[in-house]
Amino acid sequence: MTGPFVIPVRDIVHRSGEMREFTLEVPSPEKWGEGLVAVEQGEPVVVEVRLESVHEGILVTGDIDTEYTGICSRCLTDIAEGLQVEFQELFAYPGEEETDFEVQDDHVDLETLVREAVVLALPFQPVCQPDCPGLDPATGKRLTESTGSEQREPLDPRWAALQGFTTDHDDDSPRSRG
Ligand SMILES: [Zn+2]
Repeated sequence: MTGPFVIPVRDIVHRSGEMREFTLEVPSPEKWGEGLVAVEQGEPVVVEVRLESVHEGILVTGDIDTEYTGICSRCLTDIAEGLQVEFQELFAYPGEEETDFEVQDDHVDLETLVREAVVLALPFQPVCQPDCPGLDPATGKRLTESTGSEQREPLDPRWAALQGFTTDHDDDSPRSRG
């Protein structure tokens, strides 16, 4: 049994209470994720994992640390963000109840587990910053924070009415409201 996320467990198999800890650092074997952001092939994936021998099999608990890249869903700018995910799964001994994950040849293969945890944790609508103002609907250009603040409405409705009146007669004034 081979693979970048395969860990030998021979020394703790059927020895309930025994525990081992490993740190894996491997490049992602393929692109993980289909959306606006993904973990690219070759991106370093660090997995700190604890393997505990329990009656039913090997209980695997881990922390994944990697990075996803792609584009902001609002302004389409390139982004790269760290991603931390936790996971836990029981690798059962073969021959007992059917499970998704099994101890095979005294090894556990974490690849499917790690990939699924990462893909599920990827943001569906990633943003470059929490308050990204997005693109100007008129020009299609990326709005900056200053242009965002200029769009605030006047507080006093009388001033709003006056502003609307003057704007109608001054074509040089940009109308950003609406
Ligand atoms: Zn953005």
